[in-house]
Amino acid sequence: MHEKCGVVGISLADRDAARPLYYSLYALQHRGQEAAGVVTHDGFQQHDHVETGLVGDVFDPEDIDALKGTNGIGHVRYPTEGGLGASCAQPFSVSFKSGSLGLAHNGNLVNTDSLREELATLGHAFTSDGDTEVIAHELARNLLEQDLVRAVKSTMGRLHGSYSLTIMHDETVLGVRDPQGNRPLCLGELEDGYVIASESAAIDTLDGDLVRDVEPGELVVLHPDGSGFDSYQLFDREHSAHCFFEHVYFARPDSQMDGDLVYEVRRELGRQLWAESGIETDVVMPVPDSGRSFASGYAEAAGEDGADTEFAEGLMKNRYVGRTFIMPTQDERERAVRLKLNPIRDTVEGRTVTLIDDSVVRGTTSTQLIELLREAGAEEVHLRIGSPPIVAPCYLGIDMASREELIAAGRSVEEIGERIGADSLSYLPVEAVTEALDSDREDLCLGCVTGAYPYDIEGEKRDREIERPGSEPASADD
Ligand code: 5GP
Ligand code: MG
Repeated sequence: MHEKCGVVGISLADRDAARPLYYSLYALQHRGQEAAGVVTHDGFQQHDHVETGLVGDVFDPEDIDALKGTNGIGHVRYPTEGGLGASCAQPFSVSFKSGSLGLAHNGNLVNTDSLREELATLGHAFTSDGDTEVIAHELARNLLEQDLVRAVKSTMGRLHGSYSLTIMHDETVLGVRDPQGNRPLCLGELEDGYVIASESAAIDTLDGDLVRDVEPGELVVLHPDGSGFDSYQLFDREHSAHCFFEHVYFARPDSQMDGDLVYEVRRELGRQLWAESGIETDVVMPVPDSGRSFASGYAEAAGEDGADTEFAEGLMKNRYVGRTFIMPTQDERERAVRLKLNPIRDTVEGRTVTLIDDSVVRGTTSTQLIELLREAGAEEVHLRIGSPPIVAPCYLGIDMASREELIAAGRSVEEIGERIGADSLSYLPVEAVTEALDSDREDLCLGCVTGAYPYDIEGEKRDREIERPGSEPASADD
């Protein structure tokens, strides 16, 4: 099960956290549209409101008023194929002997089954088949014997895979990022408190300041009175495994992530795309919205090289159509592309066109768009993609389809171009990504474009020595 989600946690001096949580979930809506939820604590008891649907539909004003307390966490859940529905919606909350726990998870564990089996033998009962519940039980179990920081550390030592978590233990809000930092997480300061969120855009929405990213292997504990935070570096790894796809597709362009503004990374990738495989056509246009920043960088670099090519909008997006990925059948996905995007005839009729997008997964979008552009009179359609071919599935939190569905798995770029009907097709090499991110290959997770992963995944290759969960708990034995 792949969970590509958004998480947030907030501690304030003397204002209820529910409203700012609600606003920040709005800011993170792109990270998940299936369900949304908030859990708060008022010093005596926990309150929660979790439902399927978009943030704007999930919360009525009365729901927000009922979420009492100056501390809380929130979650938006990404639709997984087959839709797991409300039983997996988050934050997950439990009461146990030493208090109450709320947990919001972005990522995916790769050792869920063995952990669940072990816990089940110890008498833990599970209500879902998700990995978040496993983390909650493991943490609850450790909290019976250890203080908060040690319990988190013991829990992290048992987890293998990706996780950015916001956790609430009674009224204390914590943020945790897995030792390889696969999913993003950052820390922000508000006038009257602190916030931990998947993306800095959520902090901006609250008129706060980004303090920094939460480090891989770090635990951040917010003071419940909003006065500050404590940091514990619980695990140290030589290399991180940041998901490059966050920068290419998933994150908002206005988010600052692991030291880079996402927009600038995408523009730089667009510039490199021109340098690698630029082609002078009458017009260059993005696939909205994900191709926009790439196309602007590409067009800028083309202009600097003196190319005679116009940068224009040639496809209009219907903003009320949801993401086409959640359509269950291929036929519906194809129809949905036409519902979602419509060509501007004047931009393309009788002209040669370069179309720019961030990625190709199944190939549905590009096949349909190229056909649409030809119907609208385009003479040639060249496709330029701002990332390498996606040849393998993601096990760490991006729900990307299986190998059989990936158009680039087992095909050459020429074959893919033929299949999608492009006059020419180019992708970026992996090196362009590491360069644009100014990062070593060893510090990124590139599993979906290399087929080798920074985690132990059954039946898949690894791209490095894996430090097993629990190995070398760092010196921070505080
Ligand atoms: P395709 O149509 O080839 O299956 O998917 C490619 C399109 O989907 C691109 O326009 C890209 O922006 C978008 N895309 C890439 N990865 C994902 C993903 O994980 N989820 C969703 N919803 N869209 C994606
Ligand atoms: Mg797109």
